[in-house]
Amino acid sequence: MADQFTTGPIPSFDQPEPEPREECGVFGVWAPGEEVAKLTYYGLYALQHRGQEAAGISVADGHQIVVFKDLGLVSQVFDEQVLSSLRGHVAVGHCRYSTTGSTTWENAQPTFRTTATGSGLSLGHNGNLVNTAELRDRAAELGVKSRNGATTDSDIMTALLAASAADKGLEQAALEVLPTIRGAYCLVFSDESTLYAARDPHGVRPLVLGRLERGWVVASETAALDIVGASFVREVEPGELIAIDTDGLRSSRFASPEPKGCLFEYVYLARPDTSISGRSVHATRVEIGRRLAVEHPVEADLVVPVPESGTPAAIGYAQGSGIPFGTALVKNAYVGRTFIQPSQTIRQLGIRLKLNPLRDVIRGKRLIVVDDSVVRGNTQRALVRMLREAGALEVHVRIASPPVQWPCFYGIDFASRAELVANGLDLDGIRRSIGADSLGYVSLDALIAASEQPKTRLCAACFTGEYPIELPDDALIGKHLLEGIEKGVAGSAAPLQPAGYGAEDALRRP
Ligand code: SF4
Repeated sequence: MADQFTTGPIPSFDQPEPEPREECGVFGVWAPGEEVAKLTYYGLYALQHRGQEAAGISVADGHQIVVFKDLGLVSQVFDEQVLSSLRGHVAVGHCRYSTTGSTTWENAQPTFRTTATGSGLSLGHNGNLVNTAELRDRAAELGVKSRNGATTDSDIMTALLAASAADKGLEQAALEVLPTIRGAYCLVFSDESTLYAARDPHGVRPLVLGRLERGWVVASETAALDIVGASFVREVEPGELIAIDTDGLRSSRFASPEPKGCLFEYVYLARPDTSISGRSVHATRVEIGRRLAVEHPVEADLVVPVPESGTPAAIGYAQGSGIPFGTALVKNAYVGRTFIQPSQTIRQLGIRLKLNPLRDVIRGKRLIVVDDSVVRGNTQRALVRMLREAGALEVHVRIASPPVQWPCFYGIDFASRAELVANGLDLDGIRRSIGADSLGYVSLDALIAASEQPKTRLCAACFTGEYPIELPDDALIGKHLLEGIEKGVAGSAAPLQPAGYGAEDALRRP
């Protein structure tokens, strides 16, 4: 079944590159008397941009946990009937884009494990670990096996938590296991009655706490709180574990905070209506555009965004330059979200599937085109060509982030270093490669200033190559690390083996 839903890029001249993709969105609710599955559904809907490969919700009612998950968008995985069957007062939700492990049903989340005492544990993870190989070996020493062939760092974390919880309870187990995990992780997890949330000591990915009239919510972004009617309370602090049950909310520290929030969340990943560390993402993007106009001015007739992620920065560029803002490209908002495999003929339409030019607006104009970032350069090349064909006299490209030169190991899937256009070419080389009349990237200092965060509290590794969380050797990191092990490709003294499918805890759509 999974195979029918996977898509893969087939290159063509105009083929837009896949956008940088975030690993996941997480959402959790503790709210007796509320329809927690439906709240989680809407929360995941608000976080759909963070992961579109799979979605899942677990619900606990004090006695048992039921998990429902499948490949596809939130709206494809759940319907009224399924949501109505998920009854309880604790829910954990997840939408997935894979950065460790393939796109399979087994790798969809929430993950599920039982402890030796028979208690359940369901977990959703946003981020990417850098000591997965070490954790895998520890799990193997404990005799813990991969569940149903799952090949994710998230499954190993769940296994270690479940193994440790058997004799000391989940809260104490989390306080002991979490300090041994390195990398980026925002976790939302539950047993039969308690909701937990934890954030890595660097706080790479966002995680926030919200209040409902009769309960609590945790979510990857503040926008998801707004959408379910929860009020923002505060961020889950880096290195903090939160537990919520009938005794109220408990907060514990499992590590000293060393904040290194992801700068790219402000550029592209987070919703514009989200706030991170008290700073509005939309306002940040507008300010980046203003600064871009100061750093890279050019005479032109119209500032146009690449919709929709380039729109706030284009508004800022127009404000900063005094050149009018206009719409020249119309986005087909739903085409990138289909799981229907396009035919070769359709694929060759490339960027035209996604963006359509407004020829009346474009013809005879000198355009400034504002985009959020450049990864491989394919999208911008196709765009410049499309705008020239639509009659643009000049096309000046302005980018609301510095050149992406390094891969991310903390939860974003850009491309390999060799594929990044900024890695092999200088500025003029990139300009010629995409066919623009001029090209300008905002500086790192301007981007950081726009975010209003202290430089020391940010990760900017994809721009600078300075990774704030130490990385292991190349052989011990990578999306398919655990799959290589299971196939016997990478060495391991005690390889994990699929334990076989056990359906007692998880429902699967037939
Ligand atoms: S490397 Fe880039 S995308 Fe990854 S966490 Fe750091 S700033 Fe974010």
